[in-house]
Amino acid sequence: GVLVAGSANLDFVVRASHVPAPGETVLGRDFATFPGGKGANQAVACARAGGAPTRMLLALGEDPYAAVLEDSLRAADVRLHIVRSRDRATGTAFICLSDDAENAITVAPGANEALRPEHLPDLAGDGYLLLQLETPLDAVEAYARAARAAGLRVALNAAPARPLPASLLALLDVLIVNEGELSLLAGGRGSVAACLAAIDVPCVVVTMGARGCCARADGRILLQAAFAVDAVDTTAAGDTFCGTLIAALGRGDPLARALREAGAASALACTRLGAQSSIPTRAEVRALLAS
Ligand code: ADP
Repeated sequence: GVLVAGSANLDFVVRASHVPAPGETVLGRDFATFPGGKGANQAVACARAGGAPTRMLLALGEDPYAAVLEDSLRAADVRLHIVRSRDRATGTAFICLSDDAENAITVAPGANEALRPEHLPDLAGDGYLLLQLETPLDAVEAYARAARAAGLRVALNAAPARPLPASLLALLDVLIVNEGELSLLAGGRGSVAACLAAIDVPCVVVTMGARGCCARADGRILLQAAFAVDAVDTTAAGDTFCGTLIAALGRGDPLARALREAGAASALACTRLGAQSSIPTRAEVRALLAS
């Protein structure tokens, strides 16, 4: 199975003609809330991709938002290990979504900050641990170290972008980043190929939006074009990619096939509004792959 340890946030989304510039006020249109957070989105994507049971370690507050997030994860068949924070609110994200599918996001992490190294559940039966950077870095590194010691493979989606200690990178089997995150981790070394070569992780995958993705593993570079879709909301495209990729690698698929499946799932996620609500089922992904 796959254990995801990470964030869960309730997304407050307003659509507007454009994302406001600093100091600008924009009159938006429809408003909606959606279950989100990188960790929870990736857990849902992993569970919908199927193949192995998905569990998630997450921290929530004692407020009505927590139940919304729990329900969404359970409905997707994710088994939950919940740390309950008394003094912090459930994580929230404030998202402005523009007509050309650009977004601007502010996250209030709240309870997500309560995840500590000692909260990691028993790892028996898991093949992969999947991590992101919306929870405290010391816990992320402690989980990676414990999982590696227990014989799991460790995957990190290094988002949101931040510099990382070499001690954390050394624990990873798989690193998934977008171009901005890649450039930051590679110290701004120019081309994607140069950046890929500079990062000392066995398998590095770079997502490139509508240009698809590429990966370096075993001294080879793999390219996967994006699937052509009409994008309406790219929120959770990256998360869908990560969860689907790790589900596929977890069931033993070769990397090239896993990249194709992750590309198809994340393209479909761009065609629908919201985060977890936009993540396709395995049947929908298969239909796109067969078309
Ligand atoms: P992030 O949102 O994390 O920065 P990307 O923008 O790179 O990540 O998107 C992640 C993946 O989602 C891409 O590698 C691609 O597979 C898919 N994707 C994103 N935007 C599009 C799009 N407009 N059309 C098709 N696929 C897309």
